[in-house]
Amino acid sequence: ERQRLEKVKNLEAKTKDGRTCEVSANIGNIEDLKVAIDYGCDGVDLFRTEFLYMENDHFPTEEEQFEVYKEATQMLGEKPLVVRTLDIGGDKGLDYYDFPKEENPFLGYRAIRFCLDHEDIFRDQLRALLRASAFGNLKIMLPYVISVDEIKKTRNILEDIKKDLDNEGIAYNKDVDLGIMVETSASVIMADKLIKYSDFFSIGTNDLTQYTLACDRGNENISDLYNNFNPAVIRSIKHVIDESHKEGKWTGMCGQFASDTRATKLLLGLGLDEFSGSASKLPQVKDIILNSSYEEEKKFAEKILDLEDVNKVEEAVDNHN
Ligand code: PEP
Ligand code: MG
Repeated sequence: ERQRLEKVKNLEAKTKDGRTCEVSANIGNIEDLKVAIDYGCDGVDLFRTEFLYMENDHFPTEEEQFEVYKEATQMLGEKPLVVRTLDIGGDKGLDYYDFPKEENPFLGYRAIRFCLDHEDIFRDQLRALLRASAFGNLKIMLPYVISVDEIKKTRNILEDIKKDLDNEGIAYNKDVDLGIMVETSASVIMADKLIKYSDFFSIGTNDLTQYTLACDRGNENISDLYNNFNPAVIRSIKHVIDESHKEGKWTGMCGQFASDTRATKLLLGLGLDEFSGSASKLPQVKDIILNSSYEEEKKFAEKILDLEDVNKVEEAVDNHN
């Protein structure tokens, strides 16, 4: 088995009937990236940059960030590196910054909300990312989006920084992609509008499940309700993928669900373009894709989309796998 997966590692994730997907990694630092490359990742669909901020005693400067993003994108060469802008606040605090105490940190002052409210901090990161984009295939991704307004504001800031870089004669990729994480109910419902302002979607099922089912992802009392296979979540995933495809754009997934091998065939059938997860899981996900037929899984997914409760979904999935 290990030997077989060893071979699979460096193959393209192509189904028996010729649909190619990308199998990418989630990382938090350069060490993770080395491991991910070892496991044959097709790229990185989620670089969680908050660790850069959390493992520091100050907001990392533009220069400090630039060095890290540059190294990461160079290590991947032509393969994509999707960097998520700072997703901090609420449960993820910083030693050197006083976040307000909140009753509901998961519904609070965090991520893109915090960044748009602290433009100086946001600008340092965006400028570092733009500069690093000259060295590889780097893409920028926004967390916690609920409205087109947040994307428009970010695009305006990016345009402004690009002008500065032009004036200073500093290189960057003029066509750098900007995408969003779809991880709130609002972003699912507004997917048709949001995709007009986004170059891609990446579904964050950890939060999407939490917000769709009104279930705290860390609360043990309701851990049996918190389930990615809930039909409300599955239908959301399908809707988001369809809306991006209507605009000729791709949808990936970077929540845990993307590297849950129980879900691989279903996600393939729903039309997911890219699976991103823990490095060690990638060969197994690839292996399943290589041994599946997209047309068959599409039919299977249609059946799943018609089921009325989570137990029936799980039962059908387990029988099918
Ligand atoms: C998610 O919400 O699914 C996700 C990938 O982001 P995080 O787990 O960092 O919130
Ligand atoms: Mg999230």
